[in-house]
This record gives sequence, C-alpha cells and structure tokens, in this order.
Amino acid sequence: MVTEQRVRFLVVGAGVSGLSFAGKLKSEDYLVLERESEIGGYCRTVHQDGFVWDYSGHFFHFKHPELERELVSRMSDEVLRVEKSAKIYWDGTWIDFPFQKNIHQLPKEDFIDCLVDLRQRTESSSLDFKSMLYSKFGVSIAEKFLIPYNEKLYATDLSALDVDAMGRFFPYADENEIIANFRASDNRSYNSTFTYPRGGAIQYVHALAQQVDSSRIRLNEELLSLSLKDRVAETTQGKYRYDYLVSSMPFPRLMELASIPYSPEVYSWNKVLVFNLGFDQKGPSDIHWSYFPQKDVSFYRVGFYDNIFGDDRMSLYVEVGFDRAVELSPEVIAEYRSRVLRDLGQVGLVHGHRLLSEHHVVLDPAYVHITQSSRDEVEKKREWLKACGVYSMGRYGGWTYCSIEDNMLEARDLASMFCSLDSL
Ligand SMILES: Cc1cc2nc3c(=O)[nH]c(=O)nc-3n(C[C@H](O)[C@H](O)[C@H](O)COP(=O)(O)OP(=O)(O)OC[C@H]3O[C@@H](n4cnc5c(N)ncnc54)[C@H](O)[C@@H]3O)c2cc1C
Repeated sequence: MVTEQRVRFLVVGAGVSGLSFAGKLKSEDYLVLERESEIGGYCRTVHQDGFVWDYSGHFFHFKHPELERELVSRMSDEVLRVEKSAKIYWDGTWIDFPFQKNIHQLPKEDFIDCLVDLRQRTESSSLDFKSMLYSKFGVSIAEKFLIPYNEKLYATDLSALDVDAMGRFFPYADENEIIANFRASDNRSYNSTFTYPRGGAIQYVHALAQQVDSSRIRLNEELLSLSLKDRVAETTQGKYRYDYLVSSMPFPRLMELASIPYSPEVYSWNKVLVFNLGFDQKGPSDIHWSYFPQKDVSFYRVGFYDNIFGDDRMSLYVEVGFDRAVELSPEVIAEYRSRVLRDLGQVGLVHGHRLLSEHHVVLDPAYVHITQSSRDEVEKKREWLKACGVYSMGRYGGWTYCSIEDNMLEARDLASMFCSLDSL
C-alpha cells in the first residue's frame, strides 16, 4: 500500500525557482520534489574533459546587487565579471549587436537600405511582434535581421506573438538613438555586464541550495497527478497531502496533471537543441556570443565560454531552434550535429580545429510563445489555482520570458507572503 505523507509546502522542481522558494520559507515543513537525479533545472552545468558547459549559456545579470552579493558570499568559486561583447555574423565578417543600432557597420548598400527604410517607416500601434518590428525599424532592418533571426530562434510565425513577447529583453532603439550610435557607440543593454562562476551556472544553484535542508529534497521523484479537491499529490514514490503546492514545472503540464480543462492551442513554444563543443585550439578571442540570421546556417546563436574564462581552447555552445512538433530523435540530433559542424566551418569559426569533447541537450520548452491569449489564460488559471492552494511560478510555471534573477525574486516574494501569513 502506498503511504501518504502530510506536508505543509510541497514544492515541485529543484531549479532556481523551487530552491529560492524553499530557502526563504520560515517553516521547516516542506519537501522539494525533483524528477531529475540532480538539482538545478536549466541552470545545470556539465564538466567534461576540462571544459565547463551549461545547458546553453546561462549568464547572470542582477538588477538587485544585494541579491548577487548574498549569493556570491556563499560561493567558494571565483565569480567572473565580464563586459559583454556580442556580435552578428554578416557577409563573412562581424558587426556589433544589436543590429538596429549598428547598421552603419554594414556594407554600404545594406546600410543605405536600412537607413532609408528606417526614415520611411510607417509607425502604427502594432498588435503583434512582427508588425512591431516593421513599424519601429522599417522594412530592411526588420527583414535583414530582426525577422529572420527571431524566426530561427522562436521557430514560429512572429505575427502570432504578442507585441511585447520579449518584454524588457528586446533591444529597442529609436531613430535618434540609432543615428547617434553611428558616431558614439553605445550598445548598452540589460546584460552589458554579466557574472559567471568558474564552475558554471550551477554554482549559483548551489549557493541557493545552501539555504535548503538537503534531506528535504527528493531527487528522482516526479509529480504524476494532483487532486485539487483533496489537496493530494501522487508521485513516482508516494502520496502527499499538502496545504500548499508550489510548482515551477511548465504550466500546461501542471494543468494536465491536475485534470484542469484548458485550451491546448493557446500554449505554444519552441525547443532548443544545444551542442556544447570543446576544441583543441582557440577561435576568435573578442566575442562572448554571436548571432546568425542566415537561413542557410543551422544555428541562431553561438557562445564562447573560452572568452569568458580566458582559456586557450575554443569552447562553444551552439543553439538550434525547433518547432515543438519536431521529434528530436537520436538520428535527427546526429544529422544536426553534422550540419552544425559543417556550418561552423562555413562561417569560419572552425578551421583546422580538432573537436576534443562534446555534449548536447534538448531544452523543451525553451522559449514560450507569448501571445495575448496565453497571457490572459495563464493569468486567469493561476488565480484560480491559488484558490485551491496551488501556486505556479518560475519561467515555465508563469509561462513567460524572464531572467534567473526574476525567478529568484518571484519565489522569494511568494515565500515572504507565506512567512507574513504565518506571523499573523
Ligand atoms: C536557451 C536559454 C538560455 C537562457 N539563458 C539565460 C541567461 O543567460 N540568463 C538568465 O538569467 N536566464 C536565462 N535563461 C532563462 C533561465 O533558464 C530560466 O529563467 C531559469 O532556469 C528557470 O528556472 P526555474 O526554476 O523557474 O525552471 P527550471 O529550471 O525549468 O526548473 C524546473 C524544475 O522542475 C522539474 N520538474 C518539472 N516537472 C516535474 C515533475 N512533474 N515532477 C518533479 N519535478 C519536475 C524540472 O526537472 C526542473 O528541475 C535561458 C533560458 C533558455 C531556454
């Protein structure tokens, strides 16, 4: 017979969100369930053959320095502070990111197209992401970079996305700023300076986990179903009767497990296949990550860990975006591995390099497709779930686009709310 355990807070997911929440609770009556064999979620790190790779580059940029200081004070690892250098591959050379502020670095004909179309754009109050790109930047900036790049990333028609699908992470620039940038370069963004520990993103996770009682983290235990009415959760290991369930698993999956009727067509997302590749010699030394809008190049972004660490062997993460319907079988992954290696040669990043070590991972979901209907439905359903004692949080629990810091803050705020309730 399956035994039933009582717990006040049942936390689903030991990623940044779940650990931040559990670590700030005053109550010790909690359990964290994690279906994987280790903590960290998407902020896990792979150490292999002397290379350090994340599940795709995960860099830390804090709006709240006190939060960063608190976490770093708990780390023994060296934390590097890096001034970002991001480039775009264009016609066999590199221009600075963001494209829209650096059109003056393009070949003359492309520059004239972009500038003239920028001046002649028709501004309108856009209803979707694609029309916003045309309206704010004109046809050429939109069609040469912003649309092809984002279509490769999101693997969807951009006119289906909400106008604000990338929120504060989209590098807006008006005509005056674009023109001013021709003379005095100012490519600052939310992540102009970022931090990264020598031991990879997982070091921040370990700093969070120090505040969580490790005996209360149950690895290899997956939530399988929820009875909202009885407040009972069934997992691969047993049953729990909870007062509150706090989940960071993808929102549509939570609704399935709780048997809540929902509209599946409202939820759409991409998958990202990440290849981590370690080579025997250095590549370019002045780029932290780079963007590829070209349709005939399989990847949309390549990052250089070696230029963050100051290493002398090129260490890359290479990201390829897919529609979620694409089955990423071992055969498909092998085919993309060959294409990626071929394309790295074509864009000149690999020439005479020997591949020493490699790893790949599929992030599914990776980028959720934020639409007006997904916003509305998620907001409504999350409110409704709260009334049943279920709180859905995090990037995928909130079905949103946000940073790791945002996840930490949201989780801590939720924990403080419970702490205040307890002290009433
Ligand atoms: C390609 C890419 C690059 C990114 N780069 C950056 C970056 O540079 N900087 C930045 O700030 N942010 C970045 N992000 C965002 C960042 O990854 C997320 O904001 C953050 O990792 C989300 O943490 P989380 O804990 O909310 O979710 P997750 O990390 O997804 O954790 C959820 C956990 O729940 C577990 N789980 C799921 N279902 C169940 C179940 N049924 N039972 C038990 N456990 C379950 C999962 O295994 C997982 O461990 C990036 C995201 C992507 C996709």
